[in-house]
Amino acid sequence: MNMITESKAPLLRTLTRGFRRRCPRCGAGRLYRAYLKPVDSCQSCSEQLGHIRADDIPAYFTIAVVGHIVVPSAVIVEQNYHPPEWLHLSMWIPLVLILTLSLLPSIKGTLVSLLWHLSLTGDEKQ
Ligand SMILES: [Zn+2]
Repeated sequence: MNMITESKAPLLRTLTRGFRRRCPRCGAGRLYRAYLKPVDSCQSCSEQLGHIRADDIPAYFTIAVVGHIVVPSAVIVEQNYHPPEWLHLSMWIPLVLILTLSLLPSIKGTLVSLLWHLSLTGDEKQ
């Protein structure tokens, strides 16, 4: 049920839909059927999404985002409060895990939406 003549939404709206873990085309259907497993096609508009591969880029972006939050925070806490190492570890390791696991699906959704918007879905090889 792909509408070939239908134009795509503006890039920012498409990326926002992906960040919200929604279909980049309609914004209504879910992007994932499991934690990071994309649906084969959108339940709302039938857009084919399962073949879009972001590979390792979402992980790299997530590492960069989490690193830019946690590392400066740890430095600021160390400079101002000098907590013992066990307190550092008990604060930053859970924060890294929580931020990584919560941001990864949204960052992957954003990048999958970008690939979809740019029509870099893996179909261009044929
Ligand atoms: Zn859709």
